[in-house]
Amino acid sequence: MITKRSNFAPLFLKETPLILSLFFCFIFVSCQKEKGFKGVNQGDQATSQSKLKGKRLKRSIDSRLGLGEFFVEKKIRKNSNFAETLEEMNFSYQDILQIIKAVKPFINFSKLQINTVLQKKERSYPLKEFLSLEIFLSWMERVVVEKGEKGEWKARKKNLPITTKVTKFNGVVEASLWNSAVKAGLDPAVIEKLSQIFAWEIDFNREVLPVDSWRIIVEEKWAGGKRVSWGHILAAEYKNGNTYHKAVRFPKGKGGEYYDLEGKSLKKKFLKSPLRFGRITSRFTRRRFHPILKIRRPHYGVDYAAPKGTPIFAVGDGRVTRKHYSKWGGKTIKIRHNSVYQTAYKHLSKFHPSVRRGRKVKQGQVIGYVGSTGLSTGPHLHFEFYQGGRYVDPLGKKFPQLKKIKKENLISYKSFAKEVWKFLPERQEAVLLAKKTNEKKKKEDL
Ligand SMILES: [Zn+2]
Repeated sequence: MITKRSNFAPLFLKETPLILSLFFCFIFVSCQKEKGFKGVNQGDQATSQSKLKGKRLKRSIDSRLGLGEFFVEKKIRKNSNFAETLEEMNFSYQDILQIIKAVKPFINFSKLQINTVLQKKERSYPLKEFLSLEIFLSWMERVVVEKGEKGEWKARKKNLPITTKVTKFNGVVEASLWNSAVKAGLDPAVIEKLSQIFAWEIDFNREVLPVDSWRIIVEEKWAGGKRVSWGHILAAEYKNGNTYHKAVRFPKGKGGEYYDLEGKSLKKKFLKSPLRFGRITSRFTRRRFHPILKIRRPHYGVDYAAPKGTPIFAVGDGRVTRKHYSKWGGKTIKIRHNSVYQTAYKHLSKFHPSVRRGRKVKQGQVIGYVGSTGLSTGPHLHFEFYQGGRYVDPLGKKFPQLKKIKKENLISYKSFAKEVWKFLPERQEAVLLAKKTNEKKKKEDL
């Protein structure tokens, strides 16, 4: 949700009658010029302001309002409340009681937040008359209070319809992915989504290059003439160096999964175990009695007992970040799988000769052999799993599942993906290149 709100100047309505008469002519003229619904709490559409007697008054003009109609807004301030705010809006004590009674079924007063906007619509001509009071509970949700024919106060809930628009964005990374997103007018939350889609393909912490480019189509949720939130990324391309990573969201029921254009899932699964055969002798625990140290200390991994020399597999594709010997862990290998997951393998008797720091490894590739190096009672593998830099229990954790497209859906997926793909904007890199070529051409022409 985007809930940026501008600061509103407090309203001082004591001078209302005077102000009304002063501004009536102005309203009449302005009505012709102003377009759209104004004065909603974001305030990004200008509202007329005027200073009077040194106090600021904010009024808004709505072209849909009739002649002489206007509205005033007030926010519930800190250390104030709903009733007090109504009082400041010149409602009488009797009216306030009636209004509270009417809105009670729709508003939980204990949860009513400060900065909630109250908007009073009035008519100034031919007679001063109250039209309605609206309480903006959220972007989509309002409570409208009106007066019935007999002067009774009635309240109802009004939900603004949410519409979904699909928009295109593209960018070249240059300084940072985040910067390029902001530059393109995209919310950083969407770039976060983008990096999640490709988390298994690209390590966004380390592998992003200034020449990288991206393009996406994404859903925007609109209500009341404003964008209120972002929906799903429907298709995305991230060009990392010379590699194109592509994703299309294939809706399924309430959810959806991302696949490449061939229908392969972008999520990868880890091997269930780094050993083909191994008996779990010690599980992940925050506290355990250490057999050698004879003290209680956490065990942030899983121990697999296996004969010395048993091959150890990388549980997923990744890059070797550490290959070293430590006093406690003995011969140790650490692999970074993506920007989220890492694994570590300890007490190895031997490293596999193909394993080097900085090199890529494939899922299932033998990286070393079970041993008892470091602080260890016997041959076993101590296996650690990290998520976002923290230890997690690999046995207790539910990892992303590989969701294959069923064979019978593959054809329909491919044609769906092809159609969606057409909506992507041009690659920005291509645009830049074209520009450069044109400039070059122009120079040559001169
Ligand atoms: Zn262990």
